[in-house]
Amino acid sequence: MNKIDTYNELEIICSSCTILKDVPMKEHTTMKVGGKADLMIIPDSISSIQKIIAFLSTTNIPYLVIGNGSNLIFHDTGYNGVIVKIGTPLSDIEVFDDIIIAEAGASLAHVANTALEHSLTGLEFASGIPGSMGGAVYMNAGAYDGEMKQVVIETLCLDNEGNLITLKNDEHNFSYRHSRIQDDNLTCLQVKMKLEKGEKHKIQTRMNELNARRRKKQPLNYPSAGSIFKRPPGTYAGMLVDNCGLRGTKIGGAQVSDKHCGFIVNTGNATAEDIISLIKYVQETVYKNSGIWLELEVKIIGGC
Ligand SMILES: Cc1cc2nc3c(=O)[nH]c(=O)nc-3n(C[C@H](O)[C@H](O)[C@H](O)COP(=O)(O)OP(=O)(O)OC[C@H]3O[C@@H](n4cnc5c(N)ncnc54)[C@H](O)[C@@H]3O)c2cc1C
Repeated sequence: MNKIDTYNELEIICSSCTILKDVPMKEHTTMKVGGKADLMIIPDSISSIQKIIAFLSTTNIPYLVIGNGSNLIFHDTGYNGVIVKIGTPLSDIEVFDDIIIAEAGASLAHVANTALEHSLTGLEFASGIPGSMGGAVYMNAGAYDGEMKQVVIETLCLDNEGNLITLKNDEHNFSYRHSRIQDDNLTCLQVKMKLEKGEKHKIQTRMNELNARRRKKQPLNYPSAGSIFKRPPGTYAGMLVDNCGLRGTKIGGAQVSDKHCGFIVNTGNATAEDIISLIKYVQETVYKNSGIWLELEVKIIGGC
């Protein structure tokens, strides 16, 4: 099916959804690189996502579900298919005693602040992670000894035929930056979390402390996708990169951050090719130097 026909079908399936053509992915990712996606649809309800995913799957139209784009690098050639962006229209957050139920498009920061307002502890680690709830569960996002695995009780997901399924915590197969949502190509719609009653001032102090640590250690003044590489067992990616003398190394507008060697930043005019070339250069150099191949934490989308 061509782009115009797909656009028309999507409009019939969800007339109240936002549907965009030729969307520059640099505007939807924190790395701020990447070419155009053929189409982007921003669903406004769970039932519309169900219909959209069922349609895209049965017609074999390539699609990718994204949240805030904070762990993604799109190639300069863009994406031939449909981006399903789960964002603001699906970002309701409800609190029942020590339970929070958040839709997949809610930002982690917003959910962590809601926990704070209700004096609930357990999500302080997440307040500085710039992702959505859906992206956080998909990645089992974590920081400072916290991870989503510790707070999720269940999620409402869609399989790629459009069927709703509920996964309990232990059915997610959570591990370091991994969940079953990746393996089974599920779409996360809603996340139910259990927190603990705490003291508001202590929760606020902990959040402030962790966010100050981030500001001190991370190059938050430049576009990036956070840590490019996963932490290898028993060591740190940033340290391995630094040990090779790669701190500050540039290819085009991409640079190994001189503040944190685990980050590659866009210094202003980087292309995706610059970023990807620098990633490969760092992987090869670290491998030659240490025998350790750095696995990607970020997802690179598109290209051949
Ligand atoms: C400055 C900075 C700091 C960061 N710090 C941390 C950190 O401390 N810890 C950490 O773990 N990460 C960190 N990250 C990375 C990133 O924020 C997390 O991985 C986050 O969980 C990604 O969420 P997202 O909504 O942006 O997902 P996206 O980048 O949009 O997508 C990431 C992956 O999740 C999938 N996905 C997204 N939403 C859904 C959904 N609803 N259903 C199914 N699949 C979905 C996408 O297909 C993609 O494969 C950081 C990033 C930046 C830029």
